[in-house]
Amino acid sequence: MDNAFQMYNLLKKEVKQWQSERGSFWTERLRPAQVPPYYPIKELPENAVLELCQRLNQVSDTVVSDIELLETWKKFRAFQPVANAELLSRLQLALCGVAQAFRETMVKMDNSSVNSQVKNYVKFKSTQNMTCPICGEPAGVSVLSLPNGRRFLHCSICEHEWSAKRVGCIRCGTEEASKLNYLKSEEYPGAELVICQACGQYSKEYDLRVMNIEDVNWETIRTLPLDYAAENWLSEHAHLLGKIQ
Ligand SMILES: [Zn+2]
Ligand SMILES: [Zn+2]
Repeated sequence: MDNAFQMYNLLKKEVKQWQSERGSFWTERLRPAQVPPYYPIKELPENAVLELCQRLNQVSDTVVSDIELLETWKKFRAFQPVANAELLSRLQLALCGVAQAFRETMVKMDNSSVNSQVKNYVKFKSTQNMTCPICGEPAGVSVLSLPNGRRFLHCSICEHEWSAKRVGCIRCGTEEASKLNYLKSEEYPGAELVICQACGQYSKEYDLRVMNIEDVNWETIRTLPLDYAAENWLSEHAHLLGKIQ
């Protein structure tokens, strides 16, 4: 895990570097939509993703031709299997890096409150939707923030966070206590699994009052054993899921 974390940090650093050098070049080329999602993931410039991915390939000491990269990207977009798992994870990281650059632009626009879209955005921020208002992807995890445990949803693609109801499944939205199960592991204090019998899915919740997280997405990788626990729970309780729905 140490090596994996070092590589992750190296790639993240390169993403930040690319964002500061090239972010505004790309974000100036796409106007936000009038309504959320403001920068849908499918509309992000693919050349920006490919450009960033080549930089990640370089820092990983890997040579990938532009043609090979484009082919892999097409497969990735078409949900086809990609044999090169490392290249796939760098592509995912590049896509996230581009989405984050557009998110930053949106947040800056919000803060400067110049145009009418800004009001729209502020209004939207206070609603409790389960998809990301910036990139339109489903929320990745929920986070209980300092100091009072206010709950936010976190987008694993663009890293946007927005406020959410105190309890409930972040996949289907049910708040019925009888359908929600919570699993914890002593190994991961502060991390909790929320398993939902209404939709048969699960999500993770991180309590920042208990644990200190520098990078939510890395935490999601670090706590992967919890995902196996959730999958086991769901298969052992499969009989319940059918009945309850
Ligand atoms: Zn997002
Ligand atoms: Zn659910």
